[in-house]
Amino acid sequence: MATTTLDRPAARTPKSRPSFVPELVYFEPDALEYPKGKRIFDWVKSEGIPYRMTTSHNRITNLPGDTELEQYKIAKRTLVVGLRKTLKFDTSKPSAEYAIPIATGCMAHCHYCYLQTTLGAKPYIRVYVNIDDITNAALGYIEERKPEITRFEAACTSDPVGLEPITGSLRELIEFMAEQEYGRLRFVTKFHHVDSLLDLKHNGHTRIRFSVNDKYVIKNFEPATSRFEERIEAAAKVAKAGYPMGFIIAPIIWHDGWEEGYAELIESLAAALPKDATKDLTFELIQHRFTKTAKSTIEKRYPRTKLEMDIEKRKYKWGRWGQGKYVYPTEQADALRLFISERIFEHFPQATIDYFT
Ligand code: SF4
Repeated sequence: MATTTLDRPAARTPKSRPSFVPELVYFEPDALEYPKGKRIFDWVKSEGIPYRMTTSHNRITNLPGDTELEQYKIAKRTLVVGLRKTLKFDTSKPSAEYAIPIATGCMAHCHYCYLQTTLGAKPYIRVYVNIDDITNAALGYIEERKPEITRFEAACTSDPVGLEPITGSLRELIEFMAEQEYGRLRFVTKFHHVDSLLDLKHNGHTRIRFSVNDKYVIKNFEPATSRFEERIEAAAKVAKAGYPMGFIIAPIIWHDGWEEGYAELIESLAAALPKDATKDLTFELIQHRFTKTAKSTIEKRYPRTKLEMDIEKRKYKWGRWGQGKYVYPTEQADALRLFISERIFEHFPQATIDYFT
């Protein structure tokens, strides 16, 4: 049976990653006028989670913790429940036309995560309760482009599946998009909390992708995410529920034994997925990249990280909007792309590789 919003799992294996429970919650007063805000408020009270009111998330300056690092860790366990005021969507190439904002921030600790820089000094997690305003804005974008299909990515600024047990927002977006002839939803996750999405009428308009990697990368760089096996099990469930599905292999990292690691990854996917899950499968391949700003933030927040960020070993790729990124030199990038693409087509001959970047 599918779990309902705000359900805590009744029983779980000891190693299973439980639903996220924040240690501190802030509410913007307007949020309590929306059913979702009220529901989260009732849940927070029933769980005995400490909460505070704030007129605006911008005023949250006094998070507990003596050092910046402590505050960062606490911020990752802090939830802010408020309204999305900016309803102009960012673009989200290459995977979609627009980013649809339902949450910002994430409780996981992936060392390489680009939210480290994009969220700057505000790494706490924000969820938005005015989903009707957000879907209305999406309707405007769909109207503008029809009869072209407009794709919306819901995971540009967060991992919404990790937050779904608290918000239920993906459920609403999936059901909304099921009714849109010219609209499509997609999101990517490193979490397995998909049970509440399995019984929805989605009309094949939502593509759920799982972010996967080889054992070395998951072990060393992805603390506080769902285990690989949990992600695959969740992938099999969403495939059975008839959702279009895909995998993002990101970031692809060059390390000792990368060929064995990525070959093993693709083999494990093929072995774990039911045969009918592999129709219409997409892969997106993203090599590891970083900016100078990201490098210095990561070194402060994860001082013992093994993440290789040696500028001398990288190629500089100019960015369209200013600061460029350091990617692998062409020869290494080509080797990664070719090797992984070949393994994918060997095990999933019907799959599509959307892009390598
Ligand atoms: Fe960032 Fe995704 Fe990891 Fe969350 S799960 S920290 S959004 S990379």
